[in-house]
Amino acid sequence: MPIFEFKDIAFEEEKDKVRLIFLRIFYTYIGKDELREIGNFRISEHSVEFPDTKENYAAKKFNALLLKSFSNLTNSITKKKTVYIHQNSGIPLIGNSYIGLIDRNTSIIELRIITGCNLDCIYCSVDQNVRPVDFVVEKDYLVSEFKKLVKHKGINDIEAHIGTQGEPLFYEPLAELIHDLSQIEEVGMISVDTNGTILTKTKVDELVNSGLKRFNFSINAVDAKLAEEIAGCRYNIQHILDILHYIASKKVKLIITPVWIPGINDKEIPKLIELSKELKCDIGIQNFLEYEFGKNPAKEMQWEEFIEKMKKLEKDHNLKLLFDFKKDFNIRATKPLPKPFQKGDIIKARIVCPGRLKAETLAVADDRNISVHGYGGEFGKTVKLKITREKHNIFYGILIN
Ligand code: SF4
Repeated sequence: MPIFEFKDIAFEEEKDKVRLIFLRIFYTYIGKDELREIGNFRISEHSVEFPDTKENYAAKKFNALLLKSFSNLTNSITKKKTVYIHQNSGIPLIGNSYIGLIDRNTSIIELRIITGCNLDCIYCSVDQNVRPVDFVVEKDYLVSEFKKLVKHKGINDIEAHIGTQGEPLFYEPLAELIHDLSQIEEVGMISVDTNGTILTKTKVDELVNSGLKRFNFSINAVDAKLAEEIAGCRYNIQHILDILHYIASKKVKLIITPVWIPGINDKEIPKLIELSKELKCDIGIQNFLEYEFGKNPAKEMQWEEFIEKMKKLEKDHNLKLLFDFKKDFNIRATKPLPKPFQKGDIIKARIVCPGRLKAETLAVADDRNISVHGYGGEFGKTVKLKITREKHNIFYGILIN
């Protein structure tokens, strides 16, 4: 009797459809009439059973339904259409800045595991409101591609840096991912960026026990009203402070990473420095920068001015605030990852899915994905592209006839 079981999918019966909850925060539907076309069916929490249907037939039909339903996957937090990238999706993990793996030819490999955020920060460099599509990557696919990059580098003490255009804590298999990364001999540091809002003490323990070595924790104000104004939505500063104190009591590194937004949180910076002293953790103050597709509530400070101000704060608070990132974070240059294309190349690529920005699609060629603007046609088509920008194996292209 064919039974299809899925650890990552929960099934819930509704009136005339079945809701599929994937990795806790994503959902899609299959119509009951579509399931009935395969045969009588029974739904359990993590399985679907077709007691009267032949195995091969049921498998073929059910897989097709599953595939179709996943093309309508939605993120329940952001309410956005979501693309699931997995081993069989035909989408390579290298090529763009928001999902997959980024190798900037150093000892850090960035893992962009999920997009989407629960906050709406007024300074967000990746303004979620102009990004109508979310992405999530299969954990095993990430790990196997990550291992290939590790082998290519041929060094030890690699940092696996889990960061996203959003909040990585929404990634359901985060602890499993950290565990798998911790089993790779060449990995010496595993860090995760977080806004801390959905962290609990239990989650902190789970991540630390899985092998997490550092939290990079964003906090931009300690004043409750201002913290909420900056977050752009309800924000419980007391929870954030409680969690920070809990992390500080654990055997894991903690760095708080406020963004200094001129004219907005100037008075909070000294308070955050004192907070870092209280927590006995590092503080990495970041200079707010303006971005084309980000929110820009202030003018960015010139670099020289920022450095001057930081030097003064160092004196006032008797604390190191300026870091030599290479030295202080053990970042080393590594063998460059080969680039299949250069700026100006004309290539053939297959359009596979929407991109994150409006009017953006992702195309695939030579084990890389390429962000293409202005394509209005169907997915699956092969097109001619001109590579317009390339850096660190992140590619942009335009269509040519
Ligand atoms: S927490 Fe980060 S990703 Fe989320 S809205 Fe704020 S700045 Fe943007």
